[in-house]
Amino acid sequence: MGKGSRPRPIPNRKQFEENWDKIFMKKDFGFWTHYCKVEGTEIGVEKGSPCNWCDVTEHDTIQETKIQKLPIDRK
Ligand SMILES: [Zn+2]
Repeated sequence: MGKGSRPRPIPNRKQFEENWDKIFMKKDFGFWTHYCKVEGTEIGVEKGSPCNWCDVTEHDTIQETKIQKLPIDRK
């Protein structure tokens, strides 16, 4: 048994889920934001509506955020 053999739970999972909750809570104010590729900037869209420009929905954006944030938070 060398060092580092101790099974290590993924510590990021909990933090990631907390971030996930923050994202949801932040977006519960009535708007959700996303980086709009069509507009070229971050814009807010009324909750429950897709973006007028790129047709992205809030749900799509959250999944995108999840994928992008994982490697950044993993340390
Ligand atoms: Zn958009």
